[in-house]
Amino acid sequence: MDITKARERIESLRRELETHNYRYYVLDDPVISDAGYDRLMRELENLEKQFPELVTPYSPTRRVGGKPREGFATIEHRVPMLSLGNAFSEAELRDFDRRVRGALPGEDVSYVVELKIDGLAVSLFYEDGLFVRGATRGNGEIGEDITHNLRTVRNIPLRLKDAVPALEVRGEVYMPQAAFEQLNRSRENEGKPLFANPRNAAAGSLRQLDPRITAARNLRAWFYAIGYHEGVSFATHGESLEYLAGLGLPVNPYYRRFQDIGKVLDYCREWEAKRFELPFAIDGMVVKVDSLEQQERLGATLKSPRWAIAFKFSPEQAATKVKDIILRVGRTGVLTPTAVLEPVRLAGTTVSRATLHNEDIIKEKDVHIGDTVIVQKAGEIIPEVVAVLTEERTGAEKPFKMPEQCPDCGARVVRQEGEAAFRCTSMTCPARLREGLIHFASRGAMDIAGLGPAVIEQLLKAGLIHDAADLYSLKYEELIKLERFGAKSARNLLAALEESKKASLGRLVFALGIRHVGERAAKTLAGHFGTLERIMKAGYEELVGIPEIGPKMAESITTFFAQEQNKAVLEKLVRAGVNTEEKRRRETGLHPLEGKTFVLTGTLQEFTRQKAKEIIESLGGKVSSSVSKNTDYVVSGENPGSKYEKAVKLGVPVIDEKKFREIVSL
Ligand code: NAD
Repeated sequence: MDITKARERIESLRRELETHNYRYYVLDDPVISDAGYDRLMRELENLEKQFPELVTPYSPTRRVGGKPREGFATIEHRVPMLSLGNAFSEAELRDFDRRVRGALPGEDVSYVVELKIDGLAVSLFYEDGLFVRGATRGNGEIGEDITHNLRTVRNIPLRLKDAVPALEVRGEVYMPQAAFEQLNRSRENEGKPLFANPRNAAAGSLRQLDPRITAARNLRAWFYAIGYHEGVSFATHGESLEYLAGLGLPVNPYYRRFQDIGKVLDYCREWEAKRFELPFAIDGMVVKVDSLEQQERLGATLKSPRWAIAFKFSPEQAATKVKDIILRVGRTGVLTPTAVLEPVRLAGTTVSRATLHNEDIIKEKDVHIGDTVIVQKAGEIIPEVVAVLTEERTGAEKPFKMPEQCPDCGARVVRQEGEAAFRCTSMTCPARLREGLIHFASRGAMDIAGLGPAVIEQLLKAGLIHDAADLYSLKYEELIKLERFGAKSARNLLAALEESKKASLGRLVFALGIRHVGERAAKTLAGHFGTLERIMKAGYEELVGIPEIGPKMAESITTFFAQEQNKAVLEKLVRAGVNTEEKRRRETGLHPLEGKTFVLTGTLQEFTRQKAKEIIESLGGKVSSSVSKNTDYVVSGENPGSKYEKAVKLGVPVIDEKKFREIVSL
């Protein structure tokens, strides 16, 4: 590769990794598997090694993960919290051993090998034996203050067995497998997005502004290091672990000491084979030089210590049989093929389904019904088929063919040009209706608490609803007749439905599930037109004239509103009293905040972030997530984050909640 090509690839990898870092560390919502992420990082590391002139200190290869989430106060770590270098193979682990021994010529070296807990790194500070504050790792130097949340983690002692004057301990907060599965089950029932893995669930639970949510999440911790201490001293890492355990802190008992790297490797492999026997997730083993004095001499790079390495396990795969390939009809009518598998244990859970995405992928992978396949789960909830073991074929396997009719309603199925997906063409397909209703009630849409997939299914089966508008004519007497519906859940659902009538116009438009119209486009439409009626009347030309609305979207919007069936549902919604106006929009049609950019920081008393954002956008303003010279106002609530400081530095006006209310004239 020449330097121009390398520069381009490096830039694109850095951008991609930054996006993944943001999703993983800030939003706790990754979109690729850890193994996939590690591959990209490896590629970047190798290119930077080949072209050292292209290295910058800002590269993701040089920096520790995340930045603080908005709304949290920050804590500066006395001693930086680093990440770990990775070894993905035996050869890489042996390289690490060679590097260590090379830097300590002629010396004896022992290693302590520990489980690598797949959770979230935390630092806790104890003064005179009492827990006083705690933080996340953040970017390694500054973490988020999560003291209140850590207090709710049940195995973290608030008082140590000995009143050491000052002690900073480091460890991992994690969510046990059973708690993770239960949490995702209840989120699924409530129609909420699922957490990708226990690590993200733990991070999402610990980084909550409301500690009551954290308390309900069943988190646990293991401690594995001392960051800072006064009044005690140790010669080895092993001793410090014993000391922590003696103070009453949870220390995982499976750490072992070895001198020979071969033995280290055996121990790593032993756990790789039996990791799913543990009630919590581990993604590798951590190998640390035991002598603290040697650690000191080995030192660290900006990102990780030279005296430790993470031996990462490979993603879990298993072989099983495809019993059938079934189709699931989604809200836009897309038919997604899914492999029904002979149940197999994979990554600690029993797997009986794997996604096959679309027909092209089935063809490309050449999956037949009856085939033995390799399935993989690398952090994701939905496992996928990686490969077919064609040598296992007996001749009885059947190729899969997309049906010409929808398996749910029998309507014609078509594949549009340029698309991989096949769709059911019927607007009244019951499967589409069910998925559409799930979307309608979901959090970003009408946000109807208690109306998850299971309840929707029940209402449809009982014939109580035939479209979204019917939800608003549900009666108490009808609901309590349903199975598992008590007086309380019926009343709660009716109250949630009533509340949802006040949802903003943007939410309503999003909830309608118009193809290609996501949350953002729905808000744009609401802000631009101000009423549902005007959106419905808008023509193609007018729509494409709006920045952010492309031809595909415009076409889909006009088609949607032209359909009689949709018009009828909308009329019913209006009659039910659902809000169809952008309330804050001025009658004059002017947008008083047009061109103004706001940044929100800290906790506001009377609005959620989402609400404040909706108000600003409905008045024509924009909300940005970072402060720059072009920011017009920073709205600062309680416990503002670093954005506040940045605003002061740049001289951007900082306003409080009261002033904000005045500006938006509430
Ligand atoms: P890491 O998870 O590879 O290793 C470092 C961390 O291990 C430490 O900070 C600590 O939290 C933890 N750890 C667990 N047990 C430990 C023990 N016994 N001793 C010491 N530390 C222990 O590194 P990272 O910087 O936290 O994260 C990078 C990794 O996160 C990537 O390799 C990738 O797997 C994942 N990631 C994934 C995405 C994604 O989009 N899927 C994005 C970013 C990062």
